[in-house]
Amino acid sequence: RVLLQVKDLKAVIKESGQEILRGVNLTIHEGEVHAIMGKNGSGKSTFSKVLVGHQDYDVTGGSVLFKDQNLLEMEPEERSHVGLFMSFQIPVEIPGVSNFDFLHMAFNARRKNHGLPPVEPLEFYSLVTPKVASLNMNPKFLDRNVNEGFSGGEKKRNEILQLAVLEADLAILDEIDSGLDVDALQDVANAVNGLLTPNNSVLIITHYQRLLDYINPSYVHIMEEGMIVKTELIAHPRALMHHLKSLLAVLLADYH
Ligand code: ADP
Ligand code: MG
Ligand code: MG
Repeated sequence: RVLLQVKDLKAVIKESGQEILRGVNLTIHEGEVHAIMGKNGSGKSTFSKVLVGHQDYDVTGGSVLFKDQNLLEMEPEERSHVGLFMSFQIPVEIPGVSNFDFLHMAFNARRKNHGLPPVEPLEFYSLVTPKVASLNMNPKFLDRNVNEGFSGGEKKRNEILQLAVLEADLAILDEIDSGLDVDALQDVANAVNGLLTPNNSVLIITHYQRLLDYINPSYVHIMEEGMIVKTELIAHPRALMHHLKSLLAVLLADYH
């Protein structure tokens, strides 16, 4: 099933009217990992920010469907409620709010949106601690205020923890690897790999190859001057299995 379909997306900087995205095309199916690489300034972050509805940009052309819904018509918050998640290059600090409370709130907000009742703190605690452990994070970290005094590596791990708790359908990870030492990079990559299911997808944005040594994308796209100019299918087992399943689904549908 198609999760995200971007067609000829064009966007300008609101303030200056300067065109940054000059016709981006990208299709992501459930269960796929995509990577966008490209030089600094090629428009990668702008693309991810336009997808989540950042206020600095105006869309001037094209379309974006997320689970068959028009994403461009939704408010940023609504986009996260329908299952889109984005990490930030510079995560914000939220003084006075503990990490635990923040995650708990976010988790219940998403449940509410799916018509589910809230989960009590105690139950949430037992749900979140295994995820903290799998990221090699100290459990004490849950009591600290969001991002306050966190090291670079802790902030990145925290973002992945948010992602793990929110169980997004499409996670956009923009430069999640920047400033990480090899240990932190491996933890983050392992956590991302551990989150992958046949139903969710990840879009990794990076200008370094090294993250892709740990996370195997099904496709690698190259962005240049606001357009995806090249796409490569990476034939690793996971990607092949996905294509086999799609092919089988089509064959079986014909047969019935
Ligand atoms: P990348 O993530 O590939 O490094 P960006 O999307 O951050 O590229 O930037 C693409 C181009 O758009 C750059 O020239 C950048 O300076 C410019 N740009 C992006 N956002 C803004 C903004 N809010 N204000 C001014 N210039 C911007
Ligand atoms: Mg940049
Ligand atoms: Mg960038």
